[in-house]
Amino acid sequence: MSAPEEFDVIVVGGGPAGSTAATLIADQGHRVVLLEKERFPRYQIGESLLPATVHGVCRLLGADEEMRAAGFTTKRGGSFRWGTSPDPWNFLFALSPELSGPTSYAYQVDRMTFDDILLRNAARHGVDVREESSVLEAVTGGGRVTGVVCSDPSGTRRELAAAHVVDASGSTGRLHAAAGGIRHYSDFFQNLAVFGYFAGGGRMPEPDAGNILCAAFDEGWLWYIPLRDDLTSVGAVLNRDQAARIQADREGTLRESIRRCGIVRDLLGDTERITEGTYGSVRVRRDYSYANTRFWAPGITLIGDAACFIDPVFSTGVHLATYSGLLAARSLNSVLAGELSEERAFGEFEGRYRREYAVFYEFLAAFYDMRQREETYFWKARKVTNMQSDDMQAFATLVAGASSAETALVGADSLAHRFSSSSAELTGAVERTGAARTDSGERMTELFRAPVVADVMSEMNRIQQRGVAGAAATEAPLLDGGLVPSADGRRWAEPDAAPA
Ligand code: FAD
Repeated sequence: MSAPEEFDVIVVGGGPAGSTAATLIADQGHRVVLLEKERFPRYQIGESLLPATVHGVCRLLGADEEMRAAGFTTKRGGSFRWGTSPDPWNFLFALSPELSGPTSYAYQVDRMTFDDILLRNAARHGVDVREESSVLEAVTGGGRVTGVVCSDPSGTRRELAAAHVVDASGSTGRLHAAAGGIRHYSDFFQNLAVFGYFAGGGRMPEPDAGNILCAAFDEGWLWYIPLRDDLTSVGAVLNRDQAARIQADREGTLRESIRRCGIVRDLLGDTERITEGTYGSVRVRRDYSYANTRFWAPGITLIGDAACFIDPVFSTGVHLATYSGLLAARSLNSVLAGELSEERAFGEFEGRYRREYAVFYEFLAAFYDMRQREETYFWKARKVTNMQSDDMQAFATLVAGASSAETALVGADSLAHRFSSSSAELTGAVERTGAARTDSGERMTELFRAPVVADVMSEMNRIQQRGVAGAAATEAPLLDGGLVPSADGRRWAEPDAAPA
């Protein structure tokens, strides 16, 4: 191999995490190459977004206008046939005290278009985007990662060197091992998903027609995402012990799940499943709930699904991907500018990222624990009181990480108590909404008053405010002894050094 090409940063993977980090680093004038093994547009699951991605990160990236022009379905929130009520109830962003306002909506996106918008945007911002370039291994030296070996579109092996490598290669990438940690799989979210696409289907009544619908049934739950008038994404989330059944008959398992779930069955009616083209196959995903024990090591950072993912319920994946892309970019921009040490900058990255992962983990666990009419294996296994203590302990260690200040969460007993009370709060709040499909702000704020929900909203709100307002007022540190975002939101600053 010839002498390696040199860059400031190599980003591996062109999904939302990689495009976000690459763009925000290139914006500061650094030399960034992004290596993506596919040619875009390429298929990906994860179609239902949250407002912080749309109005926070995508605005920072300068991609919000293009997103608006793409004609994605507007999502006001989620509709849930979940818990004790036979009727669906809503979780509307507009009714959150934190998120209400003109930006209290998100989009349902076909990921081929969404990811392509972000990748082309990265190239326009100066990122050297190289598709059909698969990273094969990390190069190390002197106790740090110093580059990667990839195969270029002609199949030739090439070495690239950089001060830092960002692994954004999703759940299938293997580069994360170079950070030296292990991937811990959750025993609580022991789910797998089987999903396909339908040529239309009914919609919830306006103004909620664009909402994601999540509907529980005895053996799991279904998502129903209105992507376009003629395209609906439908997926069943089942216990992982269904793997053999699904392997034997994917289509039959999806159809049977739909048949068992009245509200989705009725919405679909006799709508045909699409059987040709990109949307024509029934796909399966499993083993997707995990977190790595290390999110960074000298010379390498893990973001998005390369670092962690929880579960499809509540659409957190792309948020965690773009949020971690933003955090990594702040850290790398600060280190490359010589303003902070790697330890200080990435300590902040890891602490904030684990904190966000932890609040969502707790929220989603509480969501699964909400009272269901069904007393079946699927729902019994997802009672937080049935959470294994070693799973909790492993989670506590993960949350604490190597450098986080989240010590209050460490310890299986305190976690068990915390998860149980969050779940009781959430169930109570939903029951007090009357469980009706109501727009009544008064009743809905019950839901947003639950501390576990407020926790989930708070950092998303800050990201969104910053996207909307541009340079934001000084923020308080999120972590004890931690850093704050710089005025332009693209680097870190010591709290007392941040401009007023
Ligand atoms: P990806 O989007 O996976 O991008 C990684 C990229 O890296 C890919 O383009 C890949 O080709 C490339 N790559 C991989 N290996 C290499 C290599 N060696 N060299 C170069 N490139 C490489 N999230 C939501 O927000 N909303 C949802 O509704 C939702 N539903 C989901 C349903 C299911 C069943 C599952 C499993 C997940 C769901 N998610 C959802 C999560 C979402 O799919 C992910 O969190 C999100 O795609 C992560 O983005 P990413 O950029 O980290 O990774």
